[in-house]
Amino acid sequence: MSKRIRKFVEPYLVTNGSKFRLKAFDPDDHGSLKASKDAAASLLEEGVSRLCALQEKLYAQDQWGVLLIFQAMDAAGKDGAIKHVLSGVNPQGCQITSFKQPSSEDLDHDFMWRCLRKLPERGRIGIFNRSYYEDTLVVRVHPELLERSQIPRPLLTRRIWKERFEDISAFERYLSRSGYVIRKFFLNISAEEQLRRFRSRLDEPDKKWKFSLGDLREREHWNDYMAAYQDAIRHTATPEAPWVVVPSNRKWFARLVVAAAIVDALEELDLQFPPVNAAKRSELEKGRLMMEREGKRTKGK
Ligand code: AMP
Ligand code: MG
Repeated sequence: MSKRIRKFVEPYLVTNGSKFRLKAFDPDDHGSLKASKDAAASLLEEGVSRLCALQEKLYAQDQWGVLLIFQAMDAAGKDGAIKHVLSGVNPQGCQITSFKQPSSEDLDHDFMWRCLRKLPERGRIGIFNRSYYEDTLVVRVHPELLERSQIPRPLLTRRIWKERFEDISAFERYLSRSGYVIRKFFLNISAEEQLRRFRSRLDEPDKKWKFSLGDLREREHWNDYMAAYQDAIRHTATPEAPWVVVPSNRKWFARLVVAAAIVDALEELDLQFPPVNAAKRSELEKGRLMMEREGKRTKGK
């Protein structure tokens, strides 16, 4: 399983960002699967059930924690990927948070504050649907957001993005040293595919609610966003907190890559159920005796 899974992760895993070029990653890529949606579906199913088994051990062991960050342009399929890949995983073992426009309380703090409050407990899988990376993406593309923020003027220099990348990397290294496994997913779609998906939102009854003129306006900044993503990945892809640049023009392939990357990360941990030690053995034995006695009592009645 692990070898087969790895081939869907390796080509897209960026552990050293220094030479990263977004252009080298094709949003249309679908590996060696040639348009075979069915093969992908059964592989995804296999990946999801493997993930469920790993998650149970993660939870039982209660030592490692997992943080999965999802970033993407609108309509890239973040919500769908989260829904499909984590379907079947015990909801008690997951903590999902979506980060939208910051509230005034959020803005009254440092940019990572709202995310730090939502970090997963040990033994859990935390999912960030958007994250502190937005403060190097949407905020970079719209400098007026930064202007309007409460950051002291003297700190608003041209170095701010580099400083944020440094701070994010330092924080992620800290998390990793504390026992958290981090994977950051950039769901990479093309501008053409995004337009196709927006169009289908106009026409399909179940999708109309998703349409927003605001999304269409953000699209006008496509190139700025791509430059911001490239720079963010360049500066923050590390062995302890790699980016996975997920080819996402085909939803079925994107979901497979995401599932594979999570399974791959968890398998590296060599998770085990907590061992049954002497104390636990005697607890189990006592429990067995108590239940046997109760059984006899109720039989006698
Ligand atoms: P959605 O995920 O489609 O519901 O949209 C959430 C919106 O919140 C997106 O347009 C993000 O760009 C925006 N957003 C998220 N974080 C920030 C932030 N730190 N500053 C400004 N806008 C943000
Ligand atoms: Mg949206």
